[in-house]
Amino acid sequence: MTDVNQQAKQFEFKAETKQLLNILVHSLYTHKEIFLRELISNASDALDKIRFEITKGTDVAQKELPHEINIDFNEKENTITVSDTGIGMTEAELIANIGTIAKSGSADFIKKISESGAEATNIIGKFGVGFYSVFMVADKVEVITKSYKHDSKSLKWISDGLGTYEIVEIENKLSRGTDIIIYLREDQKEFAEKYRLEQIIKKHSNFISFPIKIKNEQINSVQAIWREPKSSLTKEKYVEFYKFLTFESEEPLEIIHKSIDAPIQFHCLLFIPSKSNEYFFYNREDYGLDLYVRRVMIQHKTKELLPEYLSFVKGIVDSEDLPLNISRETLQEDVVFNKITSNVTSQILNALTTMAKDDIEKYNKFWNEHSKVFKMGYMDFTNHDKYTELLRFNSSACQSEKDIISFEQYTSKMSADQKEIYYMVGNSREAILSDPHFEIFSRKGLEVLFLFDPIDEFVLSSIRKYKEFELKSVDQVDLSKLEKLSDINEKPKYESLEKDDELHFKSLLSKMKEIIGDKISEVCESKRLTDSPACIVNTDSGMSASMQKVLGMMNKESSVPKHIFEINKNHKLIRNLIKVFKKNSNDEFIKEITEQLYESSLLLEGYLSDSHKLVSKINSFMEDSSDWYVSVKKI
Ligand code: ADP
Ligand code: MG
Repeated sequence: MTDVNQQAKQFEFKAETKQLLNILVHSLYTHKEIFLRELISNASDALDKIRFEITKGTDVAQKELPHEINIDFNEKENTITVSDTGIGMTEAELIANIGTIAKSGSADFIKKISESGAEATNIIGKFGVGFYSVFMVADKVEVITKSYKHDSKSLKWISDGLGTYEIVEIENKLSRGTDIIIYLREDQKEFAEKYRLEQIIKKHSNFISFPIKIKNEQINSVQAIWREPKSSLTKEKYVEFYKFLTFESEEPLEIIHKSIDAPIQFHCLLFIPSKSNEYFFYNREDYGLDLYVRRVMIQHKTKELLPEYLSFVKGIVDSEDLPLNISRETLQEDVVFNKITSNVTSQILNALTTMAKDDIEKYNKFWNEHSKVFKMGYMDFTNHDKYTELLRFNSSACQSEKDIISFEQYTSKMSADQKEIYYMVGNSREAILSDPHFEIFSRKGLEVLFLFDPIDEFVLSSIRKYKEFELKSVDQVDLSKLEKLSDINEKPKYESLEKDDELHFKSLLSKMKEIIGDKISEVCESKRLTDSPACIVNTDSGMSASMQKVLGMMNKESSVPKHIFEINKNHKLIRNLIKVFKKNSNDEFIKEITEQLYESSLLLEGYLSDSHKLVSKINSFMEDSSDWYVSVKKI
């Protein structure tokens, strides 16, 4: 191959590319071998693309070439060559594809990698950084390529990965496709060696669906394992494939392998990862299954195959019935495709249902890792029943915040006269347990689901019912029904009020309403409280207090909706207040206590925007009580 008598054109890498190259060239990453995985994966993509063009009937150059990847090396010269007979590149494509980083999320990736310093190495391993990773081992790279389009020129791209690259037209590259010639750095000689190359291919690229050959000897297994009968596959094989597909290092939590015959024919091999990617550098939009049609790869990461709430699932779908020329644009209108999608969703939900039945520990792991995403499934009305059975919550009957139960478990324990499922929103188990609204449920021994995640309430208010049982936020419950139930614990010991005091209590309530004014709609006697003196209660029975708050925030509304202010007449503080009231209904102390009780209740419901006033009042109450303490104790 000689250069055509023509000047080489000089180009500069884009800033983002330079930044990435700089990181890679200086990387101390110990698994530099992944460069080969990346180059082979590009070669395989290029072969997928040519195979796709050919099956579509496009007239491509050198149609008869075998679809394969060849690897050559030269120990003396310290070089490796990775060649494919794929789609190749034109000059414009070379510039667009290898001079710029097109991958979405690369900017984030670079930012992350430069921020995380030493840890960057894990990120390189996990996400791969494509073509440029070759500069971890090379001080010069040549890409020699010829596009599948007829009359394409042979081109050579050369760079040392430092800042610029050159493109020059060459004479007669013989065949369609791309050769990548890697000039290894002095300290990376180890890679120009057969055993080492073979080992890397077996480890990272064994399932590439085209033959990978080293000096004409095939190394990989080229097996569409999703089309093999289950009985012929071992767990190890599945795990190996999973690691190949996802670059994960851990085993998957669940493997779902199905061949469906009716009503449509397809194979799927799906995996539920054992770890969520949510907290790591992760782009939520970046999901989907690989779509094949009769073994031909049509599209990586096909989102349309999975509802978003199952986006954590990885894997492959291979259809017998779809046309090969199906395109992203037409996918969603295709009847067969839609049937596949809904069948895939059912397969996953069925697998989860079985897991929940047969292996609770495993299901709990699933829930811990993936429930954040899974909860978004409340919009899947088609699979409503299956989805609902799969939901889990902490509840008042659990031992700790970590335990979870299903609706099924909840309803199996409740008494025949309970017709509703109760839930309560809060920041933590402790917060809910000490919340005034929980008191009556605790007194009556009624189980309450505890919701800690803001999305939980959206889920529950959207699904509304489990079987015939309505889901009710504790502040929307009709208390008159609960009161009829007997208490599970002994009644707290307080004397009932004298008839006369009962009347005074009624007047005290009116007085309190007068003190607080229009901010509340009503002051009344509480039926729900046991240990707390007062609380505020939602008046809009259509919506729970926390939901109102969320909606208020969305509408940028900061006003407090009107509430009922409930008073516990059996609380010692209120009993004393009745005494004060009897003596002098205009006593300043009544006003102070009432305001304080109201503000404390607002605080508990999350409505108090400024707590300064509240705190300074508490301080002045403590000051008074210290006076009494000193005088009573005769200090
Ligand atoms: P990615 O593979 O994720 O797109 P890479 O950095 O690995 O990112 O590759 C960048 C692009 O360069 C590819 O998308 C492809 O268009 C082009 N490319 C790389 N290697 C080849 C090849 N062997 N044949 C054809 N095109 C290639
Ligand atoms: Mg790539």
